[in-house]
Amino acid sequence: CAGVVHLYRTFEGHDVVALQGVDLEIQPGERVAFLGPSGSGKSTLLALLGGIQRPSAGRIYLGDDDISRMSERHLARLRARRVATMLQGATRNLLPYTTARRNIGFSRIGVPSAELDDAPTAMELLERVGLADQADQVVSTMSGGQRQRLALACAVATQPQVLLADEPTSQLSHLDRDAVVRLLHDLNRDFGTTIVVVTHQPEVAATFPRTVTMKGGRVGSEGRDGAEYAVIGAEGVLHLPSHLT
Ligand code: ATP
Ligand code: MG
Repeated sequence: CAGVVHLYRTFEGHDVVALQGVDLEIQPGERVAFLGPSGSGKSTLLALLGGIQRPSAGRIYLGDDDISRMSERHLARLRARRVATMLQGATRNLLPYTTARRNIGFSRIGVPSAELDDAPTAMELLERVGLADQADQVVSTMSGGQRQRLALACAVATQPQVLLADEPTSQLSHLDRDAVVRLLHDLNRDFGTTIVVVTHQPEVAATFPRTVTMKGGRVGSEGRDGAEYAVIGAEGVLHLPSHLT
């Protein structure tokens, strides 16, 4: 499981304490959505979980590994293989003048091929995100929704145990938003991937069995299995609210 203990994050030269004492535990295979107002620390928390930023105080565990104390070299390995992070505006990290297929290839650079033996092929990944027909299309000519789905395919190309996604559905049409939400839940169902998203869209959070609402750098409230949103039925079957289906 992933655990966070007394996490604090300040930024040198700034008065704001982005995170002030966050404690939480995420079980393997869980799906969690973080909500909360702008500036409440959601992106900071995700960046810390992904090993992209380091905490000012506190610990972050991934299984038994304390990633808050890991060397840069080990963190790089972790990011390449175990924890994939889609930062806010992740489509900006795609290579615009390169095809969808080659973007997936690039996202796996640095991972030894032996470790990718069981990984889906680029074409399988593109099929999964509904971009099989766009495999040889250049990213700069793709729509916002297509790019977001490609960014997702790139993020999971190394078969991470944990996928962290910051606002993966903002600025998408309702149709594209729903497609991305479904993909996230499908990845969890098919591969057991732990999914953690940050979203300001309540209708997206409503599809997650656990929601954590951040407030002023702390955990404000938590909802499980419909405590905040009625969504999960018997046997963990996901019931999308009618406006999402
Ligand atoms: P939004 O919904 O707008 O994306 P958020 O909840 O993701 O907001 P964060 O980006 O985590 O919020 O920011 C939390 C606080 O930390 C804010 O007050 C922000 O200004 C501050 N902050 C974040 N990154 C930095 C940084 N690199 N330097 C200084 N302050 C920062
Ligand atoms: Mg943010």
